[in-house]
Amino acid sequence: MIDLTDTQKAIVETVRDFVEKEVIPVADEMEHRDEFPEAIVEQMKELGLFGLTVDEAYGGIGESLTTYALAVVELARGWMSLSGVLNTHFMGCYLINKFGTQEQKDSFLPRMATGEIRAALAMSEPEAGSDVQGIRTKAIKDGDDYVVNGQKMWLTNGLRSGIVMTLVKTDPGSDPPHRGMSMLIVEKEPGNPKPAPGLDVGKNIEKMGYKGVETTEMTFDDFRCPTSSLLGTEEGQGFRQVLDAIEVGRVNVSARAVGLATRAFEEAIRYSQQRKAFGKPISQHQAIQIHLAEMGTTLEAARLMLLSAAAKKSAGERSDLEAAMAKLFASEACHEITVKALRVHGGYGYSKEFTIERLYRDAPFLLIGEGTSEIQKTVIARRLLEKYKT
Ligand SMILES: Cc1cc2nc3c(=O)[nH]c(=O)nc-3n(C[C@H](O)[C@H](O)[C@H](O)COP(=O)(O)OP(=O)(O)OC[C@H]3O[C@@H](n4cnc5c(N)ncnc54)[C@H](O)[C@@H]3O)c2cc1C
Repeated sequence: MIDLTDTQKAIVETVRDFVEKEVIPVADEMEHRDEFPEAIVEQMKELGLFGLTVDEAYGGIGESLTTYALAVVELARGWMSLSGVLNTHFMGCYLINKFGTQEQKDSFLPRMATGEIRAALAMSEPEAGSDVQGIRTKAIKDGDDYVVNGQKMWLTNGLRSGIVMTLVKTDPGSDPPHRGMSMLIVEKEPGNPKPAPGLDVGKNIEKMGYKGVETTEMTFDDFRCPTSSLLGTEEGQGFRQVLDAIEVGRVNVSARAVGLATRAFEEAIRYSQQRKAFGKPISQHQAIQIHLAEMGTTLEAARLMLLSAAAKKSAGERSDLEAAMAKLFASEACHEITVKALRVHGGYGYSKEFTIERLYRDAPFLLIGEGTSEIQKTVIARRLLEKYKT
């Protein structure tokens, strides 16, 4: 469907090779121990993955969202959590590159391109996830500082990140609320749970899957940061900025879903040819063949939708509809494919000895992150009604 450039082919091949040699042999065990993949992340830095989409002028590779999505497919085929370490960082790079001042770009992007500092994204709160405008964290100007108060929830990379792209209300009384929202670049010491006065990173939230990468809370209690922490120059732009970043985030989740589902499919089709029941490989039973046919077909459709959405966003076109459709379809397809792959494995699929057990626990997060399936449907319906207005 799309012709890959020589650079894209080389990047995909390099990441695939890296995943085969360095990730797949250790991923199951590390995941079971909920261990942060420190050595693998160091290798990802050396491969230049943290700077894949950062302009060459800032020391990155300057590749498109499509290339990024292709790399994420390969990483998630090995272990979805690796794409989690990368993704909030990628969204941070995207936000600073698109909306940051020249000083902000010069200050952050070169260090982000090498992975020296990594980014987290703090949007969700204990009482506001889907309802982004319902956030309560506020940043009020006091001289040359903002004073920030509030609580953030579900921060992927919350502990180890060096900057946190934090959505706040700079005008809490604004009506509509989105006009009073802004994005701050909060700098902090990576790995320190109490990195600054008034800033507290909560403990790692224990999760059913998506292990290894940490997910934390973050509390701001009269935390002070300079007014130069505002992303860009103008308050009130945060909602627009975050919605833009979420579009690329949705392409990323679609890519994770395609990678994870590819692995589940591969595990199932291999196992089905090895396991015998009633005197023949289970792949010769029609019921299993139907599972394999459905898995292969939905996987192919998800891949095509991912590439189409990524190409549109990479070309700078409006792509909220396509990104939401790809995210909805790919994450639901991935969930179904992991369930079918588990069925194909019979009882062994329920054992931690088999990779499908991990894939089955990782898949549900994709139905939630970057907007739930229900929210994707509301976005899709709104856009379709706009497009086909009578
Ligand atoms: C492992 C993990 C990592 C995460 N990482 C991050 C991160 O790095 N940064 C960050 O900011 N957030 C992160 N999140 C938060 C994530 O984005 C939210 O969980 C998600 O947006 C859903 O919000 P919620 O959990 O508050 O659910 P709610 O918004 O409370 O939704 C609950 C249910 O109601 C439905 N619902 C809500 N509103 C509507 C509506 N209008 N119409 C129909 N149905 C509706 C939802 O679909 C869902 O089924 C993470 C979450 C998890 C689990």
